[in-house]
Amino acid sequence: MEPNPSETRFEDRPRTTRLAPSPTGDLHLGNVRSLLVGWALARRLGWQVVLRHEDLDEERSDEGGCDAIEASLEWLGIDWDGPVLRQSNDLEPYRAAMTRLAEERLVFASNLSRREIREAVGAPQGKGTVVFPASLRPNDPNAFRFDDQDVNYRLTVEPGTELIRDELRGEREFDPSEEVGDMILWTKNGRPSYQLAVVVDDDRQGVTDVIRGDDLLSSAARQQRLRRTLGIDGDLRWWHLPMVHDEHGRRLAKRDGDAGILALRDAGVSADRVIGLVAAWSGLIPEPYDLPASAVPDLADEPAMHRLVDRESRTPCRFTQEDDRWLRKK
Ligand code: GLU
Repeated sequence: MEPNPSETRFEDRPRTTRLAPSPTGDLHLGNVRSLLVGWALARRLGWQVVLRHEDLDEERSDEGGCDAIEASLEWLGIDWDGPVLRQSNDLEPYRAAMTRLAEERLVFASNLSRREIREAVGAPQGKGTVVFPASLRPNDPNAFRFDDQDVNYRLTVEPGTELIRDELRGEREFDPSEEVGDMILWTKNGRPSYQLAVVVDDDRQGVTDVIRGDDLLSSAARQQRLRRTLGIDGDLRWWHLPMVHDEHGRRLAKRDGDAGILALRDAGVSADRVIGLVAAWSGLIPEPYDLPASAVPDLADEPAMHRLVDRESRTPCRFTQEDDRWLRKK
């Protein structure tokens, strides 16, 4: 049997990072930037790289999306080690974590909708995160259970800060009780939430280092809190990278259909061209030229990561029309 990473002490685990895209559509150039830079750093430093499909969001996950992601990564020349984990294949590990939390009476069933929570706390209606305060926990002790009925199950999140030691950003503190309050771990659709799944999987895939976009920086504190609550050994090392923006300064997103990787491939753009552009954005080469992914690890050392973060904290990286023209130039 394969050794189970979660039974190895954190400090004894081989350094391992993960590629964890959600199959909610074609990868875009912003995703590729985070994936390429993380992969290149890991390869340079001799770490393991594992792949995980975060496909638990039924509404947003595309049929065939996981295959498309693997095809995109292969086309780009970004590889991974060992078996691929597809979250929706087996919900048992997440259920087991819920059961453990329920035994300690740390999760409860709650029917309150976002609207009801907002109304109860007097918060304005809107799209942002809804903080679930301890005052809305059920009074009925029987609600502190996990039996996978069609309600949401939440974790009791007590006040207190989590110190995130980000290798690129330094130390950052967040209090998950203020950021989200009692967070949903299991949804009324009978599926684990992103926060639960990511914590269970980072552990069972033996992850030691998380390299990803900084839109998830405050999530790191929630994940660290949950990891500790589950008694998982060791704090992860975090490397949060700045995001790529479009010409209007908005984060690149799937709405920018033209920036989709398979769409570019189908338009005749070469993988080396895409890698060259992303490497130039990241300051790994002085200007864009065709570059195979296999050449990037030699360029992506830790000082290069710090330079990237420094520069983009002043001037965010933008995908411009000029970049698009260069990509498509024959
Ligand atoms: N699946 C998430 C995404 O594509 C990334 C989650 C993570 O890195 O923790 O945005």
